[in-house]
Amino acid sequence: MLDRDGTIIVERHYLSHPDQVELLPGAGESLKILQDSGMKIVILTNQSGIARGFFDLQQLERIHQRLKELLLPFSVQLDGIFFCPHLPTDKCSCRKPKTGLVEQAIEQVGFNPNISFMIGDKWCDIEMGRRVGAKTFLVLTGHGKEELKSGKIKADYVVDNLTEASNIIIS
Ligand SMILES: [Mg+2]
Ligand SMILES: [Zn+2]
Repeated sequence: MLDRDGTIIVERHYLSHPDQVELLPGAGESLKILQDSGMKIVILTNQSGIARGFFDLQQLERIHQRLKELLLPFSVQLDGIFFCPHLPTDKCSCRKPKTGLVEQAIEQVGFNPNISFMIGDKWCDIEMGRRVGAKTFLVLTGHGKEELKSGKIKADYVVDNLTEASNIIIS
Protein backbone atom coordinates (compact mmCIF):
# COMPACT_ATOMS: atom_id res chain seq x y z
CA MET A 1 0.00 0.00 0.00
CA LEU A 2 1.33 3.39 -0.98
CA ASP A 3 0.35 6.99 -0.74
CA ARG A 4 0.45 8.86 -4.07
CA ASP A 5 1.53 12.51 -3.66
CA GLY A 6 4.98 13.05 -2.22
CA THR A 7 5.57 9.29 -2.16
CA ILE A 8 5.35 8.09 -5.78
CA ILE A 9 4.91 11.40 -7.58
CA VAL A 10 6.15 14.90 -6.94
CA GLU A 11 3.99 16.72 -4.39
CA ARG A 12 1.96 19.55 -5.95
CA HIS A 13 -0.48 21.64 -4.01
CA TYR A 14 -3.84 20.08 -5.03
CA LEU A 15 -2.51 18.45 -8.16
CA SER A 16 -5.33 18.96 -10.66
CA HIS A 17 -3.96 18.33 -14.17
CA PRO A 18 -2.34 15.29 -15.82
CA ASP A 19 0.59 17.47 -16.95
CA GLN A 20 1.54 17.99 -13.29
CA VAL A 21 2.11 14.27 -12.75
CA GLU A 22 5.83 13.58 -12.40
CA LEU A 23 7.35 10.42 -10.96
CA LEU A 24 9.80 10.94 -8.12
CA PRO A 25 13.33 9.73 -8.96
CA GLY A 26 13.50 5.95 -8.60
CA ALA A 27 9.76 5.53 -8.08
CA GLY A 28 9.14 3.47 -11.23
CA GLU A 29 12.08 1.16 -10.50
CA SER A 30 10.99 0.74 -6.88
CA LEU A 31 7.43 -0.20 -7.78
CA LYS A 32 8.79 -2.72 -10.29
CA ILE A 33 10.93 -4.32 -7.58
CA LEU A 34 7.93 -4.61 -5.27
CA GLN A 35 5.70 -5.96 -8.03
CA ASP A 36 8.32 -8.54 -9.05
CA SER A 37 8.52 -9.74 -5.47
CA GLY A 38 4.89 -10.82 -5.87
CA MET A 39 3.28 -8.02 -3.92
CA LYS A 40 0.08 -6.26 -4.88
CA ILE A 41 0.59 -2.55 -5.53
CA VAL A 42 -2.27 -0.35 -4.39
CA ILE A 43 -2.36 3.42 -4.07
CA LEU A 44 -4.48 4.95 -1.32
CA THR A 45 -4.85 8.71 -1.64
CA ASN A 46 -6.80 11.52 0.02
CA GLN A 47 -8.13 13.80 -2.73
CA SER A 48 -10.23 16.43 -1.01
CA GLY A 49 -9.61 18.67 -4.03
CA ILE A 50 -12.72 16.97 -5.42
CA ALA A 51 -14.96 18.05 -2.54
CA ARG A 52 -13.35 21.47 -2.69
CA GLY A 53 -14.29 21.76 -6.38
CA PHE A 54 -10.68 22.13 -7.59
CA PHE A 55 -11.13 19.21 -10.00
CA ASP A 56 -13.74 16.55 -10.75
CA LEU A 57 -13.77 12.75 -10.92
CA GLN A 58 -13.12 12.76 -14.67
CA GLN A 59 -10.06 14.89 -14.21
CA LEU A 60 -8.83 12.64 -11.41
CA GLU A 61 -9.29 9.67 -13.75
CA ARG A 62 -7.15 11.46 -16.36
CA ILE A 63 -4.50 12.13 -13.74
CA HIS A 64 -4.42 8.46 -12.79
CA GLN A 65 -4.35 7.46 -16.44
CA ARG A 66 -1.27 9.67 -16.83
CA LEU A 67 0.35 8.04 -13.81
CA LYS A 68 -0.25 4.59 -15.31
CA GLU A 69 1.27 5.79 -18.62
CA LEU A 70 4.37 7.03 -16.84
CA LEU A 71 4.73 3.61 -15.16
CA LEU A 72 4.46 1.68 -18.45
CA PRO A 73 8.17 1.98 -19.35
CA PHE A 74 8.92 0.31 -16.01
CA SER A 75 6.42 -2.51 -16.75
CA VAL A 76 4.57 -1.62 -13.58
CA GLN A 77 0.86 -2.36 -13.44
CA LEU A 78 -0.96 -0.97 -10.46
CA ASP A 79 -3.46 -3.32 -8.82
CA GLY A 80 -5.67 -0.40 -7.86
CA ILE A 81 -5.94 3.27 -7.01
CA PHE A 82 -8.35 4.09 -4.20
CA PHE A 83 -9.15 7.65 -3.25
CA CYS A 84 -11.12 9.60 -0.68
CA PRO A 85 -12.86 12.55 -2.37
CA HIS A 86 -14.18 14.01 0.90
CA LEU A 87 -13.34 16.92 3.18
CA PRO A 88 -11.84 16.43 6.63
CA THR A 89 -15.16 17.74 8.00
CA ASP A 90 -17.27 15.24 6.03
CA LYS A 91 -16.73 12.55 8.66
CA CYS A 92 -16.46 9.88 5.98
CA SER A 93 -14.89 6.52 6.75
CA CYS A 94 -12.31 6.63 3.95
CA ARG A 95 -10.18 9.72 4.61
CA LYS A 96 -6.78 8.60 5.89
CA PRO A 97 -5.94 7.94 8.71
CA LYS A 98 -9.31 6.17 8.66
CA THR A 99 -9.11 2.72 7.17
CA GLY A 100 -11.95 2.73 4.61
CA LEU A 101 -9.60 2.83 1.62
CA VAL A 102 -7.75 -0.23 2.90
CA GLU A 103 -11.05 -2.06 3.26
CA GLN A 104 -11.99 -1.11 -0.33
CA ALA A 105 -8.60 -2.29 -1.58
CA ILE A 106 -8.80 -5.60 0.28
CA GLU A 107 -12.26 -6.22 -1.11
CA GLN A 108 -11.25 -5.52 -4.71
CA VAL A 109 -7.67 -6.74 -4.79
CA GLY A 110 -7.40 -9.19 -1.90
CA PHE A 111 -4.43 -9.12 0.49
CA ASN A 112 -3.71 -9.50 4.17
CA PRO A 113 -2.99 -6.11 5.77
CA ASN A 114 -1.11 -7.75 8.64
CA ILE A 115 1.65 -8.85 6.30
CA SER A 116 1.51 -5.70 4.18
CA PHE A 117 3.48 -2.48 4.09
CA MET A 118 2.24 1.09 4.03
CA ILE A 119 4.54 3.73 2.58
CA GLY A 120 3.72 7.43 2.81
CA ASP A 121 4.99 10.93 3.49
CA LYS A 122 2.44 12.02 6.10
CA TRP A 123 1.29 11.17 9.59
CA CYS A 124 -2.12 10.08 8.26
CA ASP A 125 -0.48 7.45 6.03
CA ILE A 126 1.53 6.00 8.88
CA GLU A 127 -1.36 6.11 11.31
CA MET A 128 -3.66 4.33 8.84
CA GLY A 129 -1.01 1.68 8.26
CA ARG A 130 -0.66 1.14 12.01
CA ARG A 131 -4.43 0.79 12.41
CA VAL A 132 -4.57 -2.07 9.91
CA GLY A 133 -1.49 -3.82 11.25
CA ALA A 134 0.85 -3.06 8.35
CA LYS A 135 4.57 -2.31 8.63
CA THR A 136 4.92 1.42 8.08
CA PHE A 137 7.50 3.47 6.21
CA LEU A 138 7.71 7.26 6.36
CA VAL A 139 9.49 8.57 3.26
CA LEU A 140 11.29 11.90 3.56
CA THR A 141 10.14 13.01 0.11
CA GLY A 142 7.04 15.24 -0.24
CA HIS A 143 5.98 16.43 3.21
CA GLY A 144 8.03 13.73 4.96
CA LYS A 145 10.69 15.96 6.51
CA GLU A 146 8.18 18.41 8.00
CA GLU A 147 6.00 15.57 9.22
CA LEU A 148 8.95 13.94 10.93
CA LYS A 149 9.71 17.21 12.72
CA SER A 150 6.21 17.22 14.16
CA GLY A 151 7.41 14.43 16.44
CA LYS A 152 4.16 12.48 16.34
CA ILE A 153 5.18 9.95 13.67
CA LYS A 154 5.41 6.38 14.90
CA ALA A 155 6.65 4.67 11.75
CA ASP A 156 8.46 1.35 11.81
CA TYR A 157 11.00 2.83 9.40
CA VAL A 158 11.97 6.34 8.36
CA VAL A 159 13.62 6.25 4.93
CA ASP A 160 14.90 8.78 2.43
CA ASN A 161 12.59 7.69 -0.37
CA LEU A 162 10.65 4.89 -2.03
CA THR A 163 13.87 3.29 -3.28
CA GLU A 164 15.12 2.79 0.25
CA ALA A 165 11.73 1.54 1.41
CA SER A 166 11.46 -1.05 -1.35
CA ASN A 167 15.03 -2.24 -0.77
CA ILE A 168 14.26 -2.85 2.91
CA ILE A 169 10.97 -4.58 2.07
CA ILE A 170 12.52 -7.09 -0.34
CA SER A 171 15.62 -7.77 1.80
MG1 LIG B 1 1.39 12.29 0.42
ZN1 LIG C 1 -13.68 9.80 2.34
